[in-house]
Amino acid sequence: MKQVEKPKKPLIIYYLIAFIVLILLNWFVFPMFMGSNVREVDYGTFLNMIEERQVSKVQLEGDTIYFMDKSEEPQQYETTTFDDPELVNRLEDAGCEFGRVAQEQMNPILSMLISIVIPVLIFWGLGQLLTKQMMKKMGGGAGGNPFMQFGKSNAKVYVESTTGITFNDVAGEDEAKELLTEIVDFLHNPGKYQEIGAVCPKGALLVGPPGTGKTLLAKAVAGEAGVPFFSISGSEFVEMFVGMGASKVRDLFKQANEKAPCIVFIDEIDTIGKKRDSQGFSGNDEREQTLNQLLTEMDGFDASKGVVILAATNRPDSLDPALLRPGRFDRRIPVELPDLKGREEILKVHARKVKLSDNVDFNVIARAASGASGAELANMVNEAALRAVRDNRKYVTQEDLEESIEVVIAGYQKKNKVLSTKEKLIVSYHEIGHALVAALQTNSAPVTKITIIPRTSGALGYTMQVDEEERNLMSREEIENKIATLTGGRCAEELIFDSVTTGASNDIEQATKLARAMITRFGMSDRFGMVALETQVNPYLGGDSSLSCSPETASTIDDMVVDTVKKAYDKAMNLLRENKGKLHELAKYLYEKETITGEEFMSILNKKEDTEEKN
Ligand code: ADP
Ligand code: MG
Ligand code: ZN
Repeated sequence: MKQVEKPKKPLIIYYLIAFIVLILLNWFVFPMFMGSNVREVDYGTFLNMIEERQVSKVQLEGDTIYFMDKSEEPQQYETTTFDDPELVNRLEDAGCEFGRVAQEQMNPILSMLISIVIPVLIFWGLGQLLTKQMMKKMGGGAGGNPFMQFGKSNAKVYVESTTGITFNDVAGEDEAKELLTEIVDFLHNPGKYQEIGAVCPKGALLVGPPGTGKTLLAKAVAGEAGVPFFSISGSEFVEMFVGMGASKVRDLFKQANEKAPCIVFIDEIDTIGKKRDSQGFSGNDEREQTLNQLLTEMDGFDASKGVVILAATNRPDSLDPALLRPGRFDRRIPVELPDLKGREEILKVHARKVKLSDNVDFNVIARAASGASGAELANMVNEAALRAVRDNRKYVTQEDLEESIEVVIAGYQKKNKVLSTKEKLIVSYHEIGHALVAALQTNSAPVTKITIIPRTSGALGYTMQVDEEERNLMSREEIENKIATLTGGRCAEELIFDSVTTGASNDIEQATKLARAMITRFGMSDRFGMVALETQVNPYLGGDSSLSCSPETASTIDDMVVDTVKKAYDKAMNLLRENKGKLHELAKYLYEKETITGEEFMSILNKKEDTEEKN
């Protein structure tokens, strides 16, 4: 890098300060030694004063005469004589004390030293000192370049004691923990591995959806390994100036090499690790340089020294392939959304911090919170605790936890939102429509709760269905049933009020997505069979997908999606028509109660069936 000139302005300021200090010294301090308030008078006045016997003490110093008057508060005077042979006589006549001080004949060299050399030296030394200190503060070090600071990585150094997080704080994710334990073990006894000739992986990449505990796992590794832990986020490499990101990478690895064995953790690595463009004009040279530097550094260091690089991302598909090849991030650790058991454990981990009442059953909560990430579960426990505090209770109850699931899923209850009677009635029929269609079909998850209390998310009501067991697969029939259930709300509105509302927009969206996925991704259409027409771009982030087919096929797909949803709609409509009586009764019940449980719902549904059979 080019040597940059030392900044001038600040130095001038320091010189100025020194100068002012000197002047002040001159004004206030030096005169003190001579005695202040010396009044200068001419020789004639002096002689007059002697004659009038006003003078007490006189001191001769070369040509200068200092003397005092005889007043109450003696005033000091100064005057200059020209060789007056009578002076001594006069003084004797006047009867004043007098003496002569030998004039200090200063060595000319010494006086020059004092007046010129010493100030210069003082200034120079002061300047040096300040410059050095400034450089140090700016992080320039030996080079003395204040701009070096921009290139410094500001990776935080965690040591065992500071994170305080161990694998015990991470629930579920057993596979990830197992793989990471091996790395920790390697850092503890590298000899064991070297004996056999095994090389520890240089890097491990934690991949998974947001909130599944990737960052938490990395911190736990730091806590377990008991070695220095450098943690930096990918975005911290992105700098204002080109080349700074690369220089930060260099610095980070330099520090890591000095501290080995240690762990370097790069969070959100996709910020710098995105695929490099092949078209030449990438438009982001800086990022590319940073990535290149990272690749170089990863190749450069010796894994046996014990530097392990961890990284986390939720967009593994967008990473540059060069990062993923063996020798770099050769170990990929999936950190997926927790399963039923995992969710239960995560709830328990977070519930350690709150006081619970005896009736809490985490299994029930975990089942209801299907699809929730670790972060969401942690949030739920906290919401439940907050609710308990709000109600002035000392313990968190099952109801708190159940309500908090809904808070996390649908937002808070909107207490002040008042629905008109008509709207409330429509929402009641809509929700019962969903629930009835779900209940009347086989192979669909049981209804556990129906409510028409508006939520801050905008939902006016909803029907909660919870599977009895964890599901990993869905059959074609189940998807079709689900689409029918989604259309059930709108069906009920149309059947009863003969008009439709905007309330079904979310249902429509979900139903369409499912129907489309059946055809394009799950191979569940007779026409296309097992042909992938769509690829998921980013499975961990919302799962956007992009079509990969001809425009004609795309329009055929659209037609088929419409057909599928329509078929489901007709099915739901038929089910509701056949059970119109139950629909009325349940909707009325929900309208009055606003929230009903799955059991209430089922008991009314079944009771009604009996009476109908009797009629
Ligand atoms: P990300 O995968 O997005 O990096 P984090 O590690 O930041 O997610 O997780 C956020 C929070 O969620 C954690 O601080 C923790 O409280 C909670 N959490 C997530 N996963 C788990 C888990 N497996 N066990 C316990 N807590 C978890
Ligand atoms: Mg994270
Ligand atoms: Zn609906």
